[in-house]
Amino acid sequence: MSSTKPTSGNSHGAPAFTSSPQPETRTEISTLGEFGLIDRIAQAVQLVRPETVKGIGDDAAVLDFGKINPGHQVLVSTDLLAEGVHFDLRYTPLKHLGYKSVIVNLSDIAAMNGVPTHIVVGLGMSNRLSVEAVDELYAGMHIACQQYGVDLVGGDTTSSRAGLVISITVMGTAAPEKISYRSGAKPQEVICVSGDLGAAYLGLQLLEREKSAFLAGGEAQPAFTEDHTYLLERQLRPEARTDIVHELAALGVVPTAMIDISDGLSSELLHICKQSNIGAAIYADKLPIENPTRLIASEFGISPTTCALNGGEDYELLLTLTQADFEKVRKLDMLTAIGITREAADGVLLVTGTGAVPLVAQGWVHG
Ligand code: ADP
Ligand code: MG
Repeated sequence: MSSTKPTSGNSHGAPAFTSSPQPETRTEISTLGEFGLIDRIAQAVQLVRPETVKGIGDDAAVLDFGKINPGHQVLVSTDLLAEGVHFDLRYTPLKHLGYKSVIVNLSDIAAMNGVPTHIVVGLGMSNRLSVEAVDELYAGMHIACQQYGVDLVGGDTTSSRAGLVISITVMGTAAPEKISYRSGAKPQEVICVSGDLGAAYLGLQLLEREKSAFLAGGEAQPAFTEDHTYLLERQLRPEARTDIVHELAALGVVPTAMIDISDGLSSELLHICKQSNIGAAIYADKLPIENPTRLIASEFGISPTTCALNGGEDYELLLTLTQADFEKVRKLDMLTAIGITREAADGVLLVTGTGAVPLVAQGWVHG
């Protein structure tokens, strides 16, 4: 896996976004008013889920989980994204931002081994935002909803004096016996990770580098290579690994523990180990790292292993499997075995060519 260069960062094979034209007109949100804006948002929504009884338009959405998915439990998660902390509008196209803000939520449902079904969107809007900008933001959200079969069923809108704030709450379902908690891993299980790691972090470094050059009065149009494109896609257009959830279900496999990698592999593995009360050993030479990641890491003078361990925002899944279940998923090339769980007293170790060191969580520093 790590020796082949991907043609696209998009694991679902969806076409790349068409580049958003610079909006020629700028319509102030005040010309529509809050209700006009909500009407405009509601008109663009397409509902596809059988559970949706009522979407936007009343005091609350109405969802029929009981009849449609008898015996399933409802998963709920929320993510808050603040301008200047989680994203920089100087290099984040609004369509990508809308898309990504949905994806990070869907990823949390995938990490529970569930199926995402509905989102509600809270928006705090600065007066710098035009109607056209809100259209772009929602266009990205709609693409994500369409691609993952999720309904946007409500939200809230307010003005913000602190830049753009996006708060998305996601709901999903899973049969109780299929849900993967962080606390379920046992010693002597196989630790696997989906996809590849470290690219999203380097994508952010590239954007930050170009921003600095731009602010210093350099070239306005950076020349990005194919390697750069892969990293930028991983940063600006990540995917939620719901495909893994489907593949595992088809094989009759339930991970004993699972978590999505938003803050970096090290910190996520430590979460699983702490909550499952186990130790672990992962092998540096097994970490799935793509060639563009290796190349650009060396350009930045960072070790690719460090990017894979501590770079954030990959939105891949980290999971543990019993050895019997691991045999069933061996043929899935979307998963890579990177280590083994151990007794808590053995610690959490990174094994490299020169020995073993305790794994430390550097986590993900936003902004
Ligand atoms: P309330 O006064 O009860 O908060 P609103 O006027 O804010 O009602 O919302 C009216 C409808 O529009 C509700 O169904 C709500 O979920 C939906 N809605 C409001 N803001 C948004 C938004 N930013 N995105 C999607 N739906 C929204
Ligand atoms: Mg409201």
